[in-house]
Amino acid sequence: GEIIQLPDIDPSLLKIENTNTPKTRPPSSKLIFGRTFTDHMLAIPWSSATGWGTPVIKPYGPLELDPSSTVFHYAFTLFEGMKAYCQEDGTVRLFRPDMNMKRMNRSASRLALPTFDGDALEELIKRLVVLDSEWIPKEKGYSLYIRPTLIGTQRGLGVGPSSDALLFVICSPVGPYYATGFKPVSLLATTKYVRAWQGGTGSYKLGVNYAPGVVPQADAAKQGYGQNLWLAGEDDTLTEVGTMNLFVAFKLPDGSTELATPPLDDVILPGVTRDSVLELVKSHAAGNAIPGLPTNIKLSERKVVMAELVEAEKNGTLLEVFGTGTAAIVSAVDKIGYKGRDIQIPTGPTGLGSIAKALLDRIQGIQTGEIEHEWSVIA
Ligand code: PMP
Repeated sequence: GEIIQLPDIDPSLLKIENTNTPKTRPPSSKLIFGRTFTDHMLAIPWSSATGWGTPVIKPYGPLELDPSSTVFHYAFTLFEGMKAYCQEDGTVRLFRPDMNMKRMNRSASRLALPTFDGDALEELIKRLVVLDSEWIPKEKGYSLYIRPTLIGTQRGLGVGPSSDALLFVICSPVGPYYATGFKPVSLLATTKYVRAWQGGTGSYKLGVNYAPGVVPQADAAKQGYGQNLWLAGEDDTLTEVGTMNLFVAFKLPDGSTELATPPLDDVILPGVTRDSVLELVKSHAAGNAIPGLPTNIKLSERKVVMAELVEAEKNGTLLEVFGTGTAAIVSAVDKIGYKGRDIQIPTGPTGLGSIAKALLDRIQGIQTGEIEHEWSVIA
């Protein structure tokens, strides 16, 4: 038979229903992460019979879903997290949105949910953030957190590919992660719970990876630690911290610095910030110097085990540990609870080590448009 290509997402079909009841944005200082949402949302339905339907930007509001929808029973849900920044002159910028579109499609494939033209969704997200750009605080460190989400909406029980889906995007104005100076986070090296495993789904941004992390996080908090340091394997391999990727800086015998991060595999979420750190350090080493970074810095994507951290602490060669993610960009770690004691990690007088601080400044500069870079895309 003839293969009929079902319609992909088509931005030219966009319908816009403006809100009649615009809300007022709370003062920037009152914003709590992910609690305030803008006036509008984007929604695009999909069905296996007709493909992607008409994209609609409409007033932010509840979804109406059948209680038998696959999302509620079998966790057919995946998401992205990205940010938009607004400059003084009103220019709205996204940071590496193509990376989020790519990762979202990868997640969709893993759940047998529909994939889509990433450029088309990126264009629609631009339309949404420009429409709601009044909601983006302009103060330094503030941004609009964007949450694209894809869910299975087929009615009826039974585990199988969802014949219907809904892609929607909501936006939340957010303040700086560090409102009052850098606060290092303490970690509990966690062996009782496992976040991800070889052959599992840890490298995809699926809802199913996150709910099970709440109890381990509460356990860590009960023991006085801020986040879980997720380990894997018999040799206590370091993987991620909370919902961030992990970097460790070691002093090498020749006096140079090694910046190490676990390689991408089934247990590591391919973070956009992680990739940005790697690319920036590579270009630094290639001569495009980043102020504050050691000139002699060696990048390694390699396995790091807890025994190395214990040893490096003893030898005084453990320089910095930090997490990277869209929310905080970088987050310093000051201690790791492991086998009944705390490994102490230097964080410097500002609460953020010099490598982490140099990377934070550079990434933030690019995101806001202060530093010209192809990663920053005008909406
Ligand atoms: N790991 C996990 C498990 C995450 O949820 C996130 C946040 N998306 C990250 C790492 C960091 O990814 P990114 O830099 O793209 O925000």
